[in-house]
Amino acid sequence: MLKNIIKAIFTLLAVSTIFTYPFTTTWSKFLQGVIVCTILQIILYNVYIKFYRIYVIKVNNEREKELVTRGTYVTCPCYLEKRDFIPVSFTSDNNYTCLHCNKRVAVSCEVKTYLTTDPLPLEGTAEGLLRKAQQNMPNKNTNERI
Ligand SMILES: [Zn+2]
Repeated sequence: MLKNIIKAIFTLLAVSTIFTYPFTTTWSKFLQGVIVCTILQIILYNVYIKFYRIYVIKVNNEREKELVTRGTYVTCPCYLEKRDFIPVSFTSDNNYTCLHCNKRVAVSCEVKTYLTTDPLPLEGTAEGLLRKAQQNMPNKNTNERI
């Protein structure tokens, strides 16, 4: 830890010296240049880290969203029968470790198909007539007093 801090300070001062030395002629100007260059490096580093963190957080959020849309809840086959949310993929094994019993669990994905149907029109049926009558009845919530 201390070694890394000393290394970072040495690198900071070395870069400041390399960038300042060719442009200065006096000792006082050189020191001013080193101080300004060091402060600039610290500011630029902090700006870079801030934008880098925003980028990393954004990428992690997108990954989490993707995992959530491709995941499902499964029940562990152990005696605890606890539910876990796991990411599901069709291109790789979906094995996971149960958070409650620490055992490896294999997951197989099964795809089923169903025929879709269109709803039947209600006009002419008893239920359709009943709905039409209910729609034409005055609303009970309004206080209609004659
Ligand atoms: Zn389990």
